[in-house]
Amino acid sequence: MDLSFTAAEEEFRAELRAWLRANLPAGWTGHRDFPTLADEVAFLRDWQRRLHDGRWVGIHWPREYGGRGASVIEHYVFQEEIAAARAPEIINRIGVNLVGPTLIAHGTEEQKRRFLPRIMPAEELWCQLFSEPGAGSDLTALRTRAERRGDGWVVNGQKVWTSYAQFARWGILLARTDPAAPKSKGIGYFICDMQAPGVTVRPLRQLTGSEEFNEVFLEDVFIPHDRLVGGETEGWPIANTTLAHERGTSPRQLVIHRMLLNDLLGLARERGTDGVMRQRLGQHYVEVEITRLNNLRTLTRIQRRQPLGPESSFVKLFWSEMSQRMHDTLMDVLGPAGLCWQPGPRAVAGGRLARSYLYYRAASIFAGTSEIQRNILAERVLGLPRSR
Ligand SMILES: Cc1cc2nc3c(=O)[nH]c(=O)nc-3n(C[C@H](O)[C@H](O)[C@H](O)COP(=O)(O)OP(=O)(O)OC[C@H]3O[C@@H](n4cnc5c(N)ncnc54)[C@H](O)[C@@H]3O)c2cc1C
Repeated sequence: MDLSFTAAEEEFRAELRAWLRANLPAGWTGHRDFPTLADEVAFLRDWQRRLHDGRWVGIHWPREYGGRGASVIEHYVFQEEIAAARAPEIINRIGVNLVGPTLIAHGTEEQKRRFLPRIMPAEELWCQLFSEPGAGSDLTALRTRAERRGDGWVVNGQKVWTSYAQFARWGILLARTDPAAPKSKGIGYFICDMQAPGVTVRPLRQLTGSEEFNEVFLEDVFIPHDRLVGGETEGWPIANTTLAHERGTSPRQLVIHRMLLNDLLGLARERGTDGVMRQRLGQHYVEVEITRLNNLRTLTRIQRRQPLGPESSFVKLFWSEMSQRMHDTLMDVLGPAGLCWQPGPRAVAGGRLARSYLYYRAASIFAGTSEIQRNILAERVLGLPRSR
């Protein structure tokens, strides 16, 4: 067992660190409050453009499409360093992490030429139109319809929880193309123009006060045939490529929780602890370390070209529940200040930590809920009878 990185990987890390030192936005302290979400999005677009100029966006994309053809380890190191520097995240995450790799694998040459170059510099933002009010954990139950008409498709239905749809130029859309076929066999994967007539985006306010999510209504939206990705009923296997990219390793979450642990230890020192609290903090330290080792195990599998398999559900389940345990401790340490989740005289760290508590309630929902991960582990790892 060798848990160290190679000299070339360390060199890559040093190059990125130096670039970040020279290029982080002036006065950046790891966090900034913006008057509106639109201001934050504008700032993050600029940041992504700057990263792109340094060739630090989509490093895992092949060179011919503007990436660096980076290995999984380099991609891992990249995310570790970005998070460790508390650098802002890129805004076009759905475009870079989900759409790009999917179009590279399944798109036509024309689709690649038209859409890929504008993803990296955040010229065009993307959203993911998958979930519906009656289809989340079981996406194959989706009811949005796409009917063939002339040289295209007419789409009717409703999507929900669509992150950043109000800023997106394009969306990847799953819609039912053959209602007579079994659920997963009659789905198409479309590129939807978010400015097309019939698309209505309605923001939803979240617990954190932000409006990143949206409902999206599609009424007689026309999509030209050349914006269908793959065959008209091949959407489900293609969507699975997208979902696999969403559930890979989570170095970003590892670093975020390492920083949270540091914040927690600092606060606990300041405010005093008792034996029980010290044991909880010790347990969190151990669990963050387990998350690091889980990540390394996944990386080893990818490097050896072994399938990730259902065990990857364990990684997602473990870190998301660890996160909620750590945030519960955070609230106990913060005491009444935990109620101050917006900047103000009584807020700790401008309310950032309390907002983090609120945000991470979602960790056990996105990218597959905890119940779904447990079902997968029970059925496919432990061999227990199927739940339905
Ligand atoms: C932060 C965040 C960002 C998101 N962004 C997007 C986005 O950009 N685009 C998009 O398309 N979607 C997005 N989603 C939606 C997300 O994918 C869904 O919320 C998720 O798949 C769960 O689906 P659901 O909300 O419909 O819950 P449901 O599937 O209705 O589940 C409700 C409850 O029932 C449980 N349950 C369901 N089925 C079973 C079962 N078989 N056995 C046991 N328990 C079960 C679930 O665990 C859950 O507790 C986002 C979600 C979050 C939290």
